[in-house]
Amino acid sequence: MPTAARIDQLLTQHALRPTPVRRAVLGVMADTPFALSVGEIERQLAAGTDRVTLYRTLKSFEEQGLLHRVMDGTDTIRYAACSIECSAGAHFDNHVHFRCTVCQRIYCLYQVAVPAVVLPRSFEAHTREYLLGGVCGTCQSGD
Ligand SMILES: [Zn+2]
Ligand SMILES: [Zn+2]
Repeated sequence: MPTAARIDQLLTQHALRPTPVRRAVLGVMADTPFALSVGEIERQLAAGTDRVTLYRTLKSFEEQGLLHRVMDGTDTIRYAACSIECSAGAHFDNHVHFRCTVCQRIYCLYQVAVPAVVLPRSFEAHTREYLLGGVCGTCQSGD
């Protein structure tokens, strides 16, 4: 768990004033090595946390380079912590995602870059989602 001081520092670095909800959400995200849906994040926050505030917090975190969306081909949007170099307008989300078919978690493999793809001339990519499937390290070791 990152310290409260570290959380406040991260928020300030990303031009966000530390508020109780922002602190709580960042604490959850920074502590979780896989992507979480809004419902999963909500369940880890104090009961009675306002949903609108949560959505607003996630939106500003995304804009400021603290979180990125992780898509899995369904309508469920998940969020994961950005790598440390991300900032507003400079997301470096060029890493591969990995979904474990055993625990169903989607991990950010920050150290694995999405390979370069050459598109036909008339196509222009605006998003890149690279999702691999398989068994994660935790499930392989049977912990
Ligand atoms: Zn797993
Ligand atoms: Zn990711």
